[in-house]
Amino acid sequence: MTAPLLIRGATLPDGRVGIDLLALDGRIAALGPALPVPPGAAVIEAGGHLLSPPFVDAHFHLDAALSHGLPRINASGTLLEGIGLWGELKPLLTEEAIVERALHYCDWAVARGMLAMRSHVDVCDERLLAVRALLDVKRRVAPYLDLQLVAFPQDGLLRSSGALALLEKALDLGLDVVGGIPHFERTAAQGAESVKILCELAAARGLPVDMHCDESDDPLSRHIETLAFHTVRLGLQGRVTGSHLTSMHSMDNDYVGKLLPLIAEAGVHAVANPLINITLQGRHDGYPKRRGMTRVPELLAAGVNVGFGHDCVMDPWYALGSADMLEVAAMGLHVAQMTSVQGQRQCFHAVTVNNARILGLQGYGLEPGCRADFVLLQAGSPAEAIRLRAQRLLVVRGGTVISRMAPASAELALPGRPSCVDFTRQPSPRAPGAAG
Ligand SMILES: [Zn+2]
Repeated sequence: MTAPLLIRGATLPDGRVGIDLLALDGRIAALGPALPVPPGAAVIEAGGHLLSPPFVDAHFHLDAALSHGLPRINASGTLLEGIGLWGELKPLLTEEAIVERALHYCDWAVARGMLAMRSHVDVCDERLLAVRALLDVKRRVAPYLDLQLVAFPQDGLLRSSGALALLEKALDLGLDVVGGIPHFERTAAQGAESVKILCELAAARGLPVDMHCDESDDPLSRHIETLAFHTVRLGLQGRVTGSHLTSMHSMDNDYVGKLLPLIAEAGVHAVANPLINITLQGRHDGYPKRRGMTRVPELLAAGVNVGFGHDCVMDPWYALGSADMLEVAAMGLHVAQMTSVQGQRQCFHAVTVNNARILGLQGYGLEPGCRADFVLLQAGSPAEAIRLRAQRLLVVRGGTVISRMAPASAELALPGRPSCVDFTRQPSPRAPGAAG
């Protein structure tokens, strides 16, 4: 049993200020202004900084993370060369190397305030090496990070011989979610057939579904329609996620007008992966060059729960990244032009509460009774957190501080100027007509 922890004087994502939070026995015991200090409690002054539920990544590939350069670098930068490169790397992998890289990445995640992650795991491997490695990682990180694992047939369920049997074996070993990649099957009909098989498998096993779906610039890649159809047919509403959905960017508007309500009625969650979609899609375009991210504001307006995923960090598809979900939110905000006050808030939700819904996390949030998991950000609001990729001053899991980060600051040596830079403050008095 850990000592009580009182966070004093925080700002919440909904704008409430001067809020105290009491963590007791791993849960949030109380939330409000001027809470009394229980005997033996550790007290931390939040100083008006933003206290948020932890970041959640709804779409990642932990088996490939931090393998950049192995065995070589993706020269074209395209999705297809990335898949080919991953195929070259797979026979060279060892369980120990996957575990070591994954644990290292989870350290980054925690330091960035990310305490839950859904990772796809490639099951198209006779040895199921990555499956075994990541099940080991899941057990090892469980005290500090909720890791959900998706059985992902990277080479195609029907296209790759034996993939279905391997996927079922991976589920038998303990993977949590049924994955898929219908647009990578040989024909549209086989893609649709793979969606049907996988949804039926999930229904029979009582598992959620999360498919790489229509990660293509081809407007005729319409597997999301089939996914929504089978979701309704099998009564899987709320348990199914369509990841990427980039072909929606290029689809005919009339068709999308019919598709959006279908996705909403089916209760299918959508995940955009802004950093990766803007990097990998539109590669075969001249100019104008498509952005290749799905229609985030339109999906939200239709009532669809939309999350953002990091997808890749330093792997065959993407050489950058550092487990920073605020970087993901910032890219999503820019690509989708969600610059309004509401749009910025939605982008923060897309890396916190919306992703928590997709993962089905229990006890997530800043309410009494929720798990005492939260992050203190060096920012005054969600929009400012995104703007600054704010420092994670404090990361708390179950009422225990598990990571601390120094505030970002710089000492200036300029004649006639202050000696210290503060990125969170605007000059005062403000210019006439400036927003309050
Ligand atoms: Zn992915």
